[in-house]
Amino acid sequence: MRVRRVDTFHLRAPLQQPFSFSQFSYSLREAMLVRVSTEDGLAGWGEAYGPAAVTATIVREFLGPLVKGRDPRAIESLWESLFARSIDYGQKGVMLAAISALDIACWDLKAQDAGTPLYRLLGADALESIECYWTGFYFGGQEALETRWEREARECLDSGFRAVKMKVGQGVARDAELVAALRSFVGRKVKLSIDANHAYTPTEAIDLARRVEGYGIHWFEEPVSPLDPQAYLEVKARTNIPLAGGECEYTRFGFDNWFRSRAIDYAQPDICACGGITEGMKIAALASLAGIHVTPHAWGSAVGQAAALHFYAARPRQPFTLTPETKLIECDRTENPFRTAIVQSPIELSRGRWHLPSAPGLGIEVKPDEFGPYLVDRGN
Ligand code: CA
Repeated sequence: MRVRRVDTFHLRAPLQQPFSFSQFSYSLREAMLVRVSTEDGLAGWGEAYGPAAVTATIVREFLGPLVKGRDPRAIESLWESLFARSIDYGQKGVMLAAISALDIACWDLKAQDAGTPLYRLLGADALESIECYWTGFYFGGQEALETRWEREARECLDSGFRAVKMKVGQGVARDAELVAALRSFVGRKVKLSIDANHAYTPTEAIDLARRVEGYGIHWFEEPVSPLDPQAYLEVKARTNIPLAGGECEYTRFGFDNWFRSRAIDYAQPDICACGGITEGMKIAALASLAGIHVTPHAWGSAVGQAAALHFYAARPRQPFTLTPETKLIECDRTENPFRTAIVQSPIELSRGRWHLPSAPGLGIEVKPDEFGPYLVDRGN
């Protein structure tokens, strides 16, 4: 099996309801998908997280040509050659996101070639479904947030979710009000996590953590700078809320320091950014040395969501116990047509659970014919 061509697809969709979080506002969603086609007619799909025009250019102009003619099933050597070729310019960020997209596409091909769903190829036992948490409760809009969030909480509970994540980062006092409000909307039994997207100093994050500890917070995500494990340790020393982070970190080399210092309780590599499934497995192996649980950040199209799900399905919870905490994976519920409109068979989501597909590969059957209304640029 040899790679015949590599195509990139930059997709864009304006949002009906723009929304914001502590760092910026979204008025559109974008996706950068990669298709790796083989000489014998198979096509594997991958996705890169981050600025789509940039990652598309990296794949089209730099990394894609290095993949042509290679056996896509020889993923370990392929990954190392891409990383070695780019390490002088981009050890983190968009370069790794571009490698991730190619890596995911190669895993899709390898599983298709093996005739098995990817999560089985990655070593998972037969599973039916995995519980997920609702990522939503963003800022923005004219309506009072409490009014909108109460409606969103009802939708969330009615659709069967029993774990949610809300945004914080609007100032400690306002955040604490909103945590209290959302807890009252969802009740005491629902797992409730908060995500500051690194909006705070350690002092502010500790203040917020102490104000909301009584509301039973499942984890506090990205409380402080993603560049500063020491700041996480300062927060961790002053609160009993577990800390989560890692969506802004890349490769085993980047995560190593976080695990050695025990700065986080939940590691959240993004499979479309951290280096793909190949590197995600190495990050998870390092996390297991420290007994830290890995639960991937996932905020992309159906392709990225599927990659995260297959990866996660094959990860045993750390540390081992006969009575483990339920595995929880992120489920973005903000507006994004690319989760359903561009695939033949989106991964089934029901009663707050992802149901693992049984088709070979990623199991979602991407439909490039449906890209038309969204296509900004098609490169090859
Ligand atoms: Ca986050």
